[in-house]
Amino acid sequence: MSEQTARICILGGGFGGLYTALRLSQFPWQPLPKPEIILVDQSDRFLFSPLLYELLTGELQSWEIAPPFEELLQDTGVRFYQASVAGIDIEQKRVHLQEGPELGYDRLVLALGGETPLDMIPGAPSHAYTFRTITDAYRLEERLRILEESQADKIRVAIVGAGYSGVELACKLADRLGPKGRFRLIELADQILRTSPEFNRQAADKALKERGVFIDLETKVVSVGQDTISLEYKGQVDVIPVDLVIWTTGTQVAPVVRNLALKQNQRGQVTTKPTLQVLDHPEIFALGDLADCRDAQGQQVPATAQAALQQADYAAWNIWATLTRRPLLPFRYQHLGEMMTLGVDNATFSGLGIQIEGSLAYVFRRLAYLYRLPTLDHKLKVGFHWLVRPIIETLSK
Ligand SMILES: Cc1cc2nc3c(=O)[nH]c(=O)nc-3n(C[C@H](O)[C@H](O)[C@H](O)COP(=O)(O)OP(=O)(O)OC[C@H]3O[C@@H](n4cnc5c(N)ncnc54)[C@H](O)[C@@H]3O)c2cc1C
Repeated sequence: MSEQTARICILGGGFGGLYTALRLSQFPWQPLPKPEIILVDQSDRFLFSPLLYELLTGELQSWEIAPPFEELLQDTGVRFYQASVAGIDIEQKRVHLQEGPELGYDRLVLALGGETPLDMIPGAPSHAYTFRTITDAYRLEERLRILEESQADKIRVAIVGAGYSGVELACKLADRLGPKGRFRLIELADQILRTSPEFNRQAADKALKERGVFIDLETKVVSVGQDTISLEYKGQVDVIPVDLVIWTTGTQVAPVVRNLALKQNQRGQVTTKPTLQVLDHPEIFALGDLADCRDAQGQQVPATAQAALQQADYAAWNIWATLTRRPLLPFRYQHLGEMMTLGVDNATFSGLGIQIEGSLAYVFRRLAYLYRLPTLDHKLKVGFHWLVRPIIETLSK
């Protein structure tokens, strides 16, 4: 590495990492030489996860919500490596890739997100489906297709966790499967969507009722079998026959991050300062789901795409500031509200003093996410497709 040209390594190309890379590529660096910016991800494409449900209902296609990194990073000067991060040597400032070169760095961004833990429940790793990545969505799609093509008169689906993902999946899949679908939403707490505003919880409750989704509250999953799920309610265990179990609860930090000698909380999230710098390592920045961050006002930053996107602006600015000797900015999280999809063409939104549900919220959500998609090129392609798709569909009928 030359002394003048700094190298910034960004690990993970999700909401935290990709948007940090895109922002960094836009900063002016003169009189310094432009640093080398490297983005590493195990996947060849970015995933806009809030729209992942729409793949299962055919409302959206993969290219819209999961564009390839090569396409997004064209003309930005950011180099992309598709590789799995196998280890990080924070003393030597080197990143080990599973299949690729070893990378030295001057600034490191940790943005590897989280994983869905399945190993606490017997049978879950072999029989439950997760819903976090595009591969998860394809696997689930395959299973749904097999069930739909079978001669069975009903398809019994158990969804574990009545948080956002569980509720949204239940509504979307209920719309997809129609009268054949039998849904159970299983939740350990005594209500669904514990952290949601009342308006969204009520809209979700209504949507679930309309779709006949059965909700098991205060219920613990004991084990998962090939075609059963064992549930414990008030000390009594029932074994229920099911065709499909989808696991949506929990987030854990990947071992490659947990193994680092950095201060972490009980969940393995890396503790950061409000500047997003890791404690005792001002050259390392952490953001998104793997970071435990209190912002400038001391509020705990949630593990959401909304927060990771906002952090990306600050991470990029602060990396630029450390290299160009400017003052750093402490992160200030702004909660802009909460949106949920509640079936095909149905959504709810609560925030910014507005509360809407139904098709108006559906349009609002789509436009808000269109605005948030990465790069102007991709926004234009997707926006144009959304405009002409109804016309093409009408003409082809
Ligand atoms: C189905 C679903 C719906 C969601 N809906 C919403 C929503 O509506 N609103 C909201 O605010 N949030 C939502 N979230 C949460 C949101 O997606 C996350 O909070 C956000 O993605 C976190 O950003 P991140 O950059 O930390 O991680 P991610 O966006 O998950 O990115 C991590 C990246 O790291 C890569 N990676 C992981 N491990 C390795 C490795 N070892 N080597 C190389 N690359 C690796 C992954 O491939 C991935 O691209 C949703 C999540 C899911 C799963």
